[in-house]
Amino acid sequence: MSAKHSLALAQRQSDALLNRYSGRFAPSPTGPLHFGSLITAVASYCDARAHQGRWVVRIEDTDIPRIYPGSEAHILRSIDAFQFEPDAEIIFQKDRLDLYESVLEQLHAQGWVYACQCTRKMLGSNHIYQGTCRDLGLALKDQAIRVKVDAQEICFTDRLQGTHCSNLSQDLGDFVLKRRDGIINYQLAVVVDDYLQGMTHVVRGADLLDNTERQIWLGQLLDYPKLEYMHLPLAMNDQGQKLSKQNMAQALDLNQAPQLLQQALQALHQAPVDLDAPRIMLQQAIAQWDIEQIPKGTTLKGIFL
Ligand code: GLU
Repeated sequence: MSAKHSLALAQRQSDALLNRYSGRFAPSPTGPLHFGSLITAVASYCDARAHQGRWVVRIEDTDIPRIYPGSEAHILRSIDAFQFEPDAEIIFQKDRLDLYESVLEQLHAQGWVYACQCTRKMLGSNHIYQGTCRDLGLALKDQAIRVKVDAQEICFTDRLQGTHCSNLSQDLGDFVLKRRDGIINYQLAVVVDDYLQGMTHVVRGADLLDNTERQIWLGQLLDYPKLEYMHLPLAMNDQGQKLSKQNMAQALDLNQAPQLLQQALQALHQAPVDLDAPRIMLQQAIAQWDIEQIPKGTTLKGIFL
């Protein structure tokens, strides 16, 4: 492990000792930030600050083929334009691949991961992996790597969405942590970094609700502390689709930062804030922050952008 990364580990231990709320905003640069991303950024920031917590930004850029040119720069410009104040240097997952590899080695030494040569086609129509390669003992090199799951039901209580459960072996099967092309899967990178960055709280869009049990499972295997989750309802476009980079949601217009901030807080049903410099608006939003007001459910009704 590089010296920089051993430092990350040491840092985690000292933060964890403080037992202080730590939250994050973790966009993937697969497109410019849109109004849905702003809602996540604002909610994670206000929730952390309202708990006197730390807040950091992490760019989740392990999936190189899906990176959209210029979107990383747009994310960084957005953080500045909205005057968010991260408590640590912004980290980029593509610089941390050695960390994820070392965690894969750890899981391999413990017998939890194995190489898999099955193609997507072989999975069948329900996409549930039947464990075909579990006991083949294939060499890890140039193969997909899957983690074993077992038949227990994993449940967590989301701060907004209530109890959510999944039985990973029935719903999904052993899942991929590293693709055959060498790309580290989001599920692994997110769990390792939430741990190394000393995160205690995850605030993100409800589109990631169904990923949570996989992440909890990995956290259990690695003996990482549990996290608190809050999955926010999603803003939709006028076709009833969630705003996403894939369906070309409009990029945030950074010249309209105060107005957009006002709309994001409105979408979260927070008390209104006056138009001002974003830093001042955020301070007001933090002072008024009330998660009881956030609409329940996984979609925001009547917000069309
Ligand atoms: N990188 C993920 C995304 O942009 C979010 C990850 C997370 O918050 O856990 O959808």
